[in-house]
Amino acid sequence: MSRMNKLSSNIYNQYLRQDEAKLKLWRYAGLMLTYKCPAECEFCYYCCGPDKNGLMSVETAMNAWSGLIELSGENARVHITGGEPFLFFDRLLEIATEAKKEGFGCLDSIETNGWWAIDRKDITEKLRRLKSVGMDHLKISWDAFHAQFIDIERVRLLAETAEEVLGAGGVMVRWQKYLDGGMGKMNKKNRDEMYLEATKDYPCRFTGRAARGIAELVANKNIDEVTRSSCRSGFLSAKGVHVDPYGNVFSGLCSGIIIGNVSEENLAEIWRNFNPPECEFISELFGDSKRNLLVSAVESGYKVRGSYADKCHFCTDMRQFFFDSGQYRPIIGPVDCYAS
Ligand code: SF4
Ligand code: SF4
Repeated sequence: MSRMNKLSSNIYNQYLRQDEAKLKLWRYAGLMLTYKCPAECEFCYYCCGPDKNGLMSVETAMNAWSGLIELSGENARVHITGGEPFLFFDRLLEIATEAKKEGFGCLDSIETNGWWAIDRKDITEKLRRLKSVGMDHLKISWDAFHAQFIDIERVRLLAETAEEVLGAGGVMVRWQKYLDGGMGKMNKKNRDEMYLEATKDYPCRFTGRAARGIAELVANKNIDEVTRSSCRSGFLSAKGVHVDPYGNVFSGLCSGIIIGNVSEENLAEIWRNFNPPECEFISELFGDSKRNLLVSAVESGYKVRGSYADKCHFCTDMRQFFFDSGQYRPIIGPVDCYAS
């Protein structure tokens, strides 16, 4: 099937003029093995932590994986992330093994915070096993946020050992400059300064847990500024999705806004049927402004803040309010993505 034919098999794309922006084919899927994590980073888009739950079944992973291949063929790329996927090493290995057996062959990377990296022999063994079932790259997360929870020596040991097993090109530390510079647990004042530096160095969006403390540190926009924007181009041009341990599908990095579930519908089918202007709640994010959502939230009791960091800060804050008041379920969910 040609690329154009494929694009027009999406229900939203079918009715557009040739010159209008189409919903892109999803090319990547981030499979979130779990929401559980030994860390609880202030910038976690998915609000992961020690008290969070979920463990992706092999079946859910294969549903998502095969659907992505159906959509994007050779261009499909899967990475496995969390939470911390090495908390459930056996399941991680099982999923990668099954994908290899199915001939999927596009496991791009596995992301970890290095918390588990204590013993060189154990690290070597685990990485060798994952390499033998197709893992190309190991991505190690390291910055001021992770430094509050993870010992830098573990991250260094992991990076060094991973390089021996996977080669220098097979390991990526995000961010190497913080690892080279050295960093550890900090008091609140130093921590806030480092967090501000980090958001300047590597701008991120203020969603998930980032919409709490960090967003408040940098908030300088009023409600008009953050509600007048549209997320249309973000939804249409998202290169891929994240799939959570329960099979919930999120567009790009928009955590906590469920656009489908791979346990109920194949990922390719979810893409074909995704019609943002017709979806409850999502249509309002897709529209020209978020004023209608704001009005509806305020009518239900949402208290507008004096300032916001960006549109995602407002979106997440408002969704937390809707989640707490039981509105827009099951689109706004699951519970793990929201503060309890
Ligand atoms: S950002 Fe990564 S390491 Fe930090 S809490 Fe989230 S999943 Fe865990
Ligand atoms: S405002 Fe909401 S929908 Fe738009 S990009 Fe941010 S999190 Fe996603």
